[in-house]
Amino acid sequence: MSRLDLVEASLLQMDKKCVRRGDRITAQCPAHDDREPSFVASTTSDDAVLFHCYAGCSGASIMEALGLRWDQIKPHDRRQQMFRRPRDPSYDECVCGIAEADMRQGKRLNQKDLQTYRQSLLRQHRSAR
Ligand SMILES: [Zn+2]
Repeated sequence: MSRLDLVEASLLQMDKKCVRRGDRITAQCPAHDDREPSFVASTTSDDAVLFHCYAGCSGASIMEALGLRWDQIKPHDRRQQMFRRPRDPSYDECVCGIAEADMRQGKRLNQKDLQTYRQSLLRQHRSAR
């Protein structure tokens, strides 16, 4: 069972709407009353799970809601590393994915999210060259 399987299992157990596409999950956030899925989780190359709630739930509250421990979803040395750290390419992928999904649904991004989205987009373009 991969780390992402664990997250998926927890979400399903909580009756959250959850869509899995390969190494990526889009779901209703476990930590707040979520109607449109604003929670995204994805797997990095080293099999850590990165996740993000677009509504702004903290990592700790999400982990608590999922009933998981950090060491269950991240390799030991990365346990404290949060999704916010924009080093991992999958971070940018994730941010862009959520932002674009939101815009497709006609949601307006706030200033902060828009800025995060633009930075991720830029980094993605740079690394694609
Ligand atoms: Zn949330």
